[in-house]
Formats: sequence, structure tokens, C-alpha cells
Amino acid sequence: MRSGSGSPRRPKGRSSTSADAESYRAQLAYVLERSDFYREKLGPSPSDRLEDIAELALTEKDELRATVTAENPFGAHLCADPSELVRIYSTSGTTGAPSYIPLTSSDVENWVTGSSRSYAASGVEPGQRIVSTYNAGPFVAGAALAAFERIGLVHIPIGTGNTERLIWTIETLEPDAVVLTPSYAAHLAESHDLRESSVRRVLVAGEPGGGEPGFRAKLEEGWGAKVTEAMGVGDIGPSLFGECEQQDGMHLGAHGFVHMELIDPETGEARELADGAEGELVLTHLQHRAAPLIRFRTRDHVVAWTSPCACGRTGLRIRCVGRTDDMLIVRGVNVFPSAIREVVNEFAPRVSGHILVRPQSAGVKQDPPLPVTVELAHGTNASDDLAEAIQDRVREVLVVRARIDLVPWSTLQRSEYKSKLVEPLRS
Ligand SMILES: [Zn+2]
Repeated sequence: MRSGSGSPRRPKGRSSTSADAESYRAQLAYVLERSDFYREKLGPSPSDRLEDIAELALTEKDELRATVTAENPFGAHLCADPSELVRIYSTSGTTGAPSYIPLTSSDVENWVTGSSRSYAASGVEPGQRIVSTYNAGPFVAGAALAAFERIGLVHIPIGTGNTERLIWTIETLEPDAVVLTPSYAAHLAESHDLRESSVRRVLVAGEPGGGEPGFRAKLEEGWGAKVTEAMGVGDIGPSLFGECEQQDGMHLGAHGFVHMELIDPETGEARELADGAEGELVLTHLQHRAAPLIRFRTRDHVVAWTSPCACGRTGLRIRCVGRTDDMLIVRGVNVFPSAIREVVNEFAPRVSGHILVRPQSAGVKQDPPLPVTVELAHGTNASDDLAEAIQDRVREVLVVRARIDLVPWSTLQRSEYKSKLVEPLRS
């Protein structure tokens, strides 16, 4: 499939550096020389100018997976000789079978460099202590942990699901920063009084939410700390983006290693990168060796900004709105569960901030009203007025008719990792 082929609109408004253009040219030549997958996909002589990139076909995760064989468990996009590989991560597959992410030593090095820039943007400084709560396991997020030492931080790994040890560590080692998922950060702030702790920076990653103003405000109040977010994409690299202290979108920390585009998720057509532009994030490796990807569809729906940030950085910034897979269409209107949560959070302190969207039919298209369970704050009673007020506000902001069902405090499940905002349909 050549999504977006035909008469692609060339996105304007972004001047890629000449270094990126040069890296791209070399990356494309490397891929065409070594990968059967891309030779077949891109044809014999695609343009190698970065400004023409939207003319090339998009790469889908399923296409890569389909080329996996017993002889080549990585897929036909593998470019490096197996003897050049130094590390192999895997992603959790939706179909059950994981897919492998092989890396050469220069790939690992570039990942750590990019992640270091993303996390350093948050303002953490050499000599400070940071507690991490990611389980390295098989996932690429583990590669980002090396970034903390690269920045010069004292890294204290705790891992997932060990709240007692985490709280003890915060009390005894008095770290300056913690890194966790926004769901876990919220859960901890709810269950412990952390406002007087040593932690002054909370770095959240792993799922969207840290950039939603209402959710962020709640986290900042609970922790008495500044909250900034970071984001990676399993197949491309960990912590590619990281927010600075201005909290005005995540900077591309992996600049020079990754090229970014936006597309219309329905048609695959390229969208112009401009302030406030929205679309699915598409990423291309620029200096990758083991299994580089060209125009990879991330399934992440983001908002982008091209104007310089108040911090002085001039590169692109993004905020992730949600997974395009989580998007629902209610009578023709696109809605992300995270956007509903953001509206619900306007009703704090009467609501806890936990919601669950409950689709009534299979697939993305839903008939209104869309049922949404909203959890009340501790000590708040349900009232028809509140449910109605939330329904009205959702309709006003998102142009979607919802049915708000209020439930008592502590009804919805908390997570020490990532939260599900959408209830799976029971068949
Ligand atoms: Zn900035």
C-alpha cells in the first residue's frame, strides 16, 4: 500500500537543517542497498531529497511483522549483519507475538544521546538524584535509563510495582526527581502525602496525560513539584521528545537522529507542520543502522508547534493527544478519551480525575450519547447537577454528547503502570 501517494502535498513551514537532509540521503541509500523490504516498497530510485519525503510510501507496523520468517525473525527491513547487533529489544504485540527491535552499538549510543537531551530539557542537573520506576525488561524504555547517568544524575532504579520501596527511598535518599508514568504519579499523590518530600521534579512518560493542563495541575499540587513529560516510540527510540520548564510541548530531543512529519490519519496525506497542526506522528530514522524505518506510522495523534519556545530552543514541539487506536468517532466527531478526561478535570476538586469511557459498539464509530463513568472525589456525593454540568461542558468543548455516570471515590481501578481510559467491549 502506498498511503499518501498520488499527488502528495508537500509540507512547508519547516526548514530542516542541511545536516538532516544529508543524513536522510545517506540513510535512504543505506536502506535501499541493504533492505529487501524497502527496495520493494520504495521502488528502484525514489527521490532522496528530504523535502520530497512525503512522496514515499508510509511504513505500517503490520507490514514489517508480515515479513518475519523463521530464518529472519527481525523482518525484511533488517539492514545490519547479525554480527553487528549488540542488543535486541522486543515490543508487546497486539496479536500476541512480540516483534524484535535490534540495535547496533551506534544505535544504542544515539538512543542514549537523544534520551539525555529529552530528559535534560526538564531542568534536572548533574549531581542531582533521580528515582526511576520503569522495569527495563524486554522493552526499549530500558535503553533510556542510561540517559540519567549520561546527564550526570545519580540514578536510583526502583522498578514498577514496588510502592513501599519507592516511598522509603524518597524518604531516605531524598531524590530531587522521579520518573514514572502519569498514572502512577497520580496514584502515588492520591495515596501518600508527598508535598513536603524532597522531590521537586516529576518526569512523566509512557502514556499521554502529563501535558493535559488539568491533569498536570493535579499532579503538581499532589507532589509539590514541577511536572514535565517525555515520550518515545517503541520502534523508533525511547524518550525521543522531552518537555522543558516552560511546559509548552515536548522538544524533539532526538533531533538529528529522527525526522518528524504529520499526516492525516484517515487518508495518510502529509499535513503541513505549523503552530497548532494536528495529526498522526510519522517518524523516519536518519542515522540508524540495525533496522532503520522510513516514514513509520506511530499511531500517536499529536499537536505540533513550530514557533520558538520561550526557553530558547527553536526546534519542533509536540503534545500527544492519544493513540489513534483509542480514537472514537461519535456522530462524525473525532474524540480522544484523554480529551474527555481533560474536560472532566475542570470539575476538580469535586471529581477524582479518574474516568472510563465505555463504547457500546465494536469499532470506532459510536452512537451518542457516549457513556463515560466519572469518579467522584473523596467525600463528594453524586448529584444530577454535577453529571449534567459535565455533560454540558463535554458537549460545549468536544461537540460530543456524552452520558456521565458518577461513581463513588475509589471505584475505578488505579494503575502502577499505564491506565486504560477505555473499557474493552465485552463480546
Ligand atoms: Zn522549551
